Amino acid sequence: MSVLLTAGLVLSVNAAYAQGPGEAPNSNAASAFDNKIIKKISADNMYNTIALLSKEPRTAGTPGELKGAQYIKGQFEKYGYETELQPFAFYDVVRTNVSGVLEIGGQDLKPYVFSGSFSGEVTAEVVNAGKAILGTVPDAVKGKIALVERGDNTFVDKVKNVIEKGAVGVILYNNTGTANNVGVADPGQNIPAVTVTRAQGTTLAEQLKSGPVTAHLKVTGSGYKVGTSYNVIAKMKPNKNKDTGQIVMVGAHHDSVPGGPGANDDASGVSAVLELARVMGNMPIDTELRFVTFGSEEKGLLGSYHYASTLSDTEADKIVAHFQMDMIGSKDAGGDNKANGLIMYTIDGKKNLVTDLASAAGVRTAMGEAVPYGQLGRSDHQPFHELGIPAALFIHSPLEPWYHTPADTIDKIDKNKLQETAEIVGAAVY
Ligand SMILES: [Zn+2]
Repeated sequence: MSVLLTAGLVLSVNAAYAQGPGEAPNSNAASAFDNKIIKKISADNMYNTIALLSKEPRTAGTPGELKGAQYIKGQFEKYGYETELQPFAFYDVVRTNVSGVLEIGGQDLKPYVFSGSFSGEVTAEVVNAGKAILGTVPDAVKGKIALVERGDNTFVDKVKNVIEKGAVGVILYNNTGTANNVGVADPGQNIPAVTVTRAQGTTLAEQLKSGPVTAHLKVTGSGYKVGTSYNVIAKMKPNKNKDTGQIVMVGAHHDSVPGGPGANDDASGVSAVLELARVMGNMPIDTELRFVTFGSEEKGLLGSYHYASTLSDTEADKIVAHFQMDMIGSKDAGGDNKANGLIMYTIDGKKNLVTDLASAAGVRTAMGEAVPYGQLGRSDHQPFHELGIPAALFIHSPLEPWYHTPADTIDKIDKNKLQETAEIVGAAVY
């Protein structure tokens, strides 16, 4: 799950659970099939997949990601799917031996360098640009270094607004506390940008009131490079004589955060995608099954957005459901919540075809519970929702303490949670 999109920080759970088992469509046929499918799902297989994938980080754009993606592709092929490794380019932050110097009056303020800041060196006067809200930046910043206060708009917008007025550098100061480690610049924002503490910033703003101040600003080791990440796509076409013309999708993300082995986030989801692909590989179907693992989820859902952008309108119209599994196997997630902490999140917080089917599947599988639903983005169900496709994220809430740390390792994985989630999604997909 990504931290980059914060729109969904509200972890609300809808108290009204989705439809019960009695209302499930074709419940007898579904049960017969469930039994067939469920008996084949193996938590041991999933566990082994996680162990293999979590041997090293799979950060987007690194050899670790490509190795993982190639393994996943190989498994899909083995199970008889038409597969594709779909590359896409993305801007990747460079932060190698990064250093920032901000000298004013012979003293270095030791600033924090913005994530993605352009590397460069300027000596110029400092001009107070307030919060650099669009339309309020003074013309006087032209050729000067803009002093900017945090708050009310994004870091990227602040840099954009002062660049448009001709500034040659940015000194951001915090709006609270004593920290300075914030700030993000976009690719193409080609001026150095650094952050100082609130105390340093307000002192500098005071100094400016009594006369010109010159600063020497130097950033090295920072910027952007173009990286390559991958989606892995597997398709199983239905029997030609029995084709509903519809597509059901099941997804997870295979990339991890830098330095994190990503056992739960999200090798666990990938392991369930592969296991469902395996057990459904030889199944007679009347609807296309499409399994996808996305790259660069942790960079801001880049892989799923790229994949969604490659779908024609006709193809998108055929997709009737997207099931996203992200972090479905942690021993330490879920607390004492209902359904062992498993929850389905939709972008709008409303139930849809995916949540209805899976909630009913929860009741008739081993878990024996209707899976609750709530509202959250931050994973790859988002671009599908934006295309009007019923989509939901399957995850345990609350998250484990190891989330996005090097401690997200195989020993924290619970086979029972893997089994339950794969059963529910598998039964719902059918
Ligand atoms: Zn994550």
